[in-house]
Amino acid sequence: MKTIIEPFRIKSVEPLTMTTEEDRKELLKKASYNLFLLPSKDVMIDLLTDSGTGAMSSEQWAAMMRGDESYAGSPSWFRFLAVMNDLLGYSHILPTHQGRASERILFSCMLKPNDLVPSNTHFDTTRANIEASGAEAVDLVIKEGTDPMCIHPFKGNMDLQRLRNCIVDGQKSGRRVPMIMVTVTNNSGGGQPVSMENILGIHKISREFGIPFFIDACRFAENAWFIKEREAGYQHKTPKEIAKEMFSLADGCTISAKKDGMVNIGGVLAMNDDVLAQEVQNSLILTEGFLTYGGLAGRDLDAMAVGFEEVLQEDYLRYRIASTGFVANHLHQKGIPVMMPPGGHAVYLDARKFLPHIPLEQYPGQALACAIYLKGGIRTCEIGTVMFGAAAKMDLVRLAIPRRTYTQSQMEYVIEAIEEVFQERQSIRGVRIEWQPKALRHFTAKFAPVS
Ligand SMILES: *Cc1c(COP(=O)(O)O)cnc(C)c1O
Repeated sequence: MKTIIEPFRIKSVEPLTMTTEEDRKELLKKASYNLFLLPSKDVMIDLLTDSGTGAMSSEQWAAMMRGDESYAGSPSWFRFLAVMNDLLGYSHILPTHQGRASERILFSCMLKPNDLVPSNTHFDTTRANIEASGAEAVDLVIKEGTDPMCIHPFKGNMDLQRLRNCIVDGQKSGRRVPMIMVTVTNNSGGGQPVSMENILGIHKISREFGIPFFIDACRFAENAWFIKEREAGYQHKTPKEIAKEMFSLADGCTISAKKDGMVNIGGVLAMNDDVLAQEVQNSLILTEGFLTYGGLAGRDLDAMAVGFEEVLQEDYLRYRIASTGFVANHLHQKGIPVMMPPGGHAVYLDARKFLPHIPLEQYPGQALACAIYLKGGIRTCEIGTVMFGAAAKMDLVRLAIPRRTYTQSQMEYVIEAIEEVFQERQSIRGVRIEWQPKALRHFTAKFAPVS
């Protein structure tokens, strides 16, 4: 049998509020053509983000009931620690309430103003936390990684020559490079994977220059699956063996457990350096909570302990990567401009190619996201000129797929809606901004259709 099916069945269901195109016309107007301002009950298929939106398993819910809420040293903490020790292998493992807390704590202990922090591509919260400590975040993804149509098995790879130059040039001009990072998979670069060969290359450079190497490991399991499928020598290894090999090449990691941790809230910060760990622990206690709960309830630690194991199951990963590819490949075959090859957690439409008649000042990505909502009640996210201003190199619409949440027929519905929008694309108009805040305008700006 070649059909890949969901490796689970459904025990508890959440009804969707079904709306018509007529209803959605009004709802969209009321939300000022900004999908962030829609109540989620008015969305039928919510592809805004894959962060914290996945479905937990019956084993995770059972583990939640076992959760122990002791302030210090609870059994939940020890169950979490055992799983993370086995997976990560770092000497110090700390829970946090989510990924950005791990980032803020780590950077506040490691970075000084004017430092350089290279990565393949820093995620927005990572970049913002680096900049908040006065350092500069440097993106060094290979050039194939910035071309949405370029076919390459590991478009998330870091350009190792540019990494070396960044360190050497930094030293010449008196700027420190106190850490090297790599994001797996490369979220801001379309969820594209990083090869083991590339991670090993970064490891070697970090050793040559004596610079600590940290992995932003939010989607470590999806990355491990791509390595298994695409990199020579890994076909017969398990995702867990591959993940452990990745972690063994670094000195620590930050994780948002809302992604491959399969939970709705949680994060991890881990490292080998004892001196750094001391400082990080002080900061954790100051802002997150005691070392054995880090801003979470005991039950959240139990849910993570199960989630970090479940995410590495081969049947799950095979289905996960196939379901994202299913949507992207269908759209691609119909001639719809979509980023190829598909990444792990999301499908990206190229709005500039989709709506070439809409000038950038009329936000083709926002116009497309609104049209898709209108057609099918599907919420997506503009990643382009609204989010980044005129500096945006691309106008993309992201369909992020929550884990274990939507069925194949719901994904077929998404494909059908986008195909219909594509057929009617000539009639789609741009939008203009009626009001915007001083910063992060994509969350709250108000739009109106251009007449
Ligand atoms: C989501 C994410 C973060 C931040 O994690 P939060 O849990 O949202 O704070 C950091 N890096 C990457 C790559 C992410 O995808």
